Amino acid sequence: MSQDKSNGQERVDLLVVGAAEVATAMGQEALGGARLAGCHVGKGWAVAVAGERIAGVGPEAELRARFQADAELDACGGTVVPGFVDSHTHPVFAGTREDEFEMRTGGATYVEIGLAGGGILSTVRGVREESTEVLLAQLLMRMDRFLELGTTTVEAKSGYGLSTEMEIKMLRVIAEANRMHPVDLVPTFLGAHEYPEEYRDRRSDYVDLLVKEMLPRVAEEKLAEYCDIFTETHVFGLEDSRRILTTAKDLGFRLRLHVDQLTPLGGAELAAEFGADSADHLECVTDKGIEALGDAGVIPVICPLVALYLRQEQEVPGRRMIDAGLAPAIATDFNPGSCYTQSMPEVMTWSALRMRMSASEVLTAATLNAAASLNRADDIGTLEVGKRADLLVLDLPNYKHLAYELGRSPVRVVVKNGQVQFQK
Ligand SMILES: [Zn+2]
Repeated sequence: MSQDKSNGQERVDLLVVGAAEVATAMGQEALGGARLAGCHVGKGWAVAVAGERIAGVGPEAELRARFQADAELDACGGTVVPGFVDSHTHPVFAGTREDEFEMRTGGATYVEIGLAGGGILSTVRGVREESTEVLLAQLLMRMDRFLELGTTTVEAKSGYGLSTEMEIKMLRVIAEANRMHPVDLVPTFLGAHEYPEEYRDRRSDYVDLLVKEMLPRVAEEKLAEYCDIFTETHVFGLEDSRRILTTAKDLGFRLRLHVDQLTPLGGAELAAEFGADSADHLECVTDKGIEALGDAGVIPVICPLVALYLRQEQEVPGRRMIDAGLAPAIATDFNPGSCYTQSMPEVMTWSALRMRMSASEVLTAATLNAAASLNRADDIGTLEVGKRADLLVLDLPNYKHLAYELGRSPVRVVVKNGQVQFQK
């Protein structure tokens, strides 16, 4: 930003004008309990962008008086919100699992399909056989889709390699895609997603491999910010999870966990014990688990479409968590098995309907709280001066339509790091 001497105005690169409203949460930390519904709505507001950052947010007339913009973006009476942050995805995979989807609609359960050699292990076979080039090309295509749907930051897990070499192959694909594409990826190592077939009868050897070889290599090559683990009775139990998480923490990884999805194993308490940034899933979490998450300030990441996809009766007690003061994020859990969608607007509608969340709550959960779960609440997740200029123009008359309308993407323009990267 520079001062224009002729009229005292500050120069900015872009002014987003003509909006019915700008709707955004505010602050640099996750908002819980009653504060979750605290989205700020500015009728007739505008946003000024200088370089990659937001330089001003406020009434359009005030911003026009203060700023001289090189370009204007007309919101055409739409609604402006922060770019969505998807804090739980498995976007690197080869092959899809539509046949399992049909098995489930025919009555088979997720665990039955997994034990029969399907599930995660079928995608592991696909990833191991696929070339790096094809994995990268497919990830980039999926990132285009994220962008079109308004998601500007995506957490991306490995976990379909399940050997040192193959997990590193996946994480390098994530790093390369992150360099090439405007959508930001946050890399997570998920070597403890499942036991690979070759370790089926010697599971403790795979835990040894994780702690002695895989985690140190991933740390040394700086390929992941987070370490994640699938803690569940049929995969990694509490003791193995503790061993893996202890090593990960010692090596400097931040932690996020898949917990209490299919059984109430005490995974939420485990996430609290280790000070994880997030505890994800939680369909079967107990009241004690909710209390532990609250005490430790762990963000529950709710993926409401997964229970639907798995035809699981038990749903995340989202409302109970919010009423207990927790600060949830909502996410897709995009993956080829248990949730084949990349759409955050869809997640917002389902969160509203199934968790009884208000429009303001789902917007905060999909932006600021999701950013906080990725340790980025000081940089993204709200439209405030100094934050990254990641914003969406929606062809909706107000932000309440986001959760209200189902089945169509309302995203008309996506600005990422101050640049228009998608326009419909
Ligand atoms: Zn997942």
